[in-house]
Amino acid sequence: MRRAIFPGSFDPITLGHYDIIKRGVKLFDEVVVAIGVNAEKKYMFSLEERKAFIEASFKNEKKVKVVTYEGLTVDFCKEIDAQFILRGLRNPADFEFEKAIAHTNRKLSKIETVFLLTAAKTSYISSSIVRDVIRNNGDYSKLVPDSVVVN
Ligand code: ADP
Repeated sequence: MRRAIFPGSFDPITLGHYDIIKRGVKLFDEVVVAIGVNAEKKYMFSLEERKAFIEASFKNEKKVKVVTYEGLTVDFCKEIDAQFILRGLRNPADFEFEKAIAHTNRKLSKIETVFLLTAAKTSYISSSIVRDVIRNNGDYSKLVPDSVVVN
């Protein structure tokens, strides 16, 4: 079974994440969306809310699982027997950042990172911009899956 994990904060899931997961499903037998728990970080949405948003967005997609994890991503990959890490790339800044992480993960393990280039129409979307729009009472419905808005 070709299993990939798609790690991130998903605070909250956006249409950019949604696009990467949907396309990941075509490449792998299972895509495990893995919400990393970082005690140092302040989040807008609780872990339970973030998990529920993603689950609701993919309730009809059997190949998508949603989990939370702590610690190193490569250790978690070994734990659940995932051979691939899926990541999205939006711009050169993402590439530089991701490149260093992927090289490090490769040094620590045999796990391959697979990058998908963002869809043009969602390339500008980030969770931090969505949070800004929410904080300022803007209409964020065009930036996230319906499950986030219905909340
Ligand atoms: P992190 O805290 O690891 O940055 P995020 O939840 O922001 O987690 O992002 C998780 C993954 O989704 C990353 O690979 C990121 O590059 C990707 N991603 C975020 N927004 C988009 C987007 N609009 N299009 C494609 N990929 C995206």
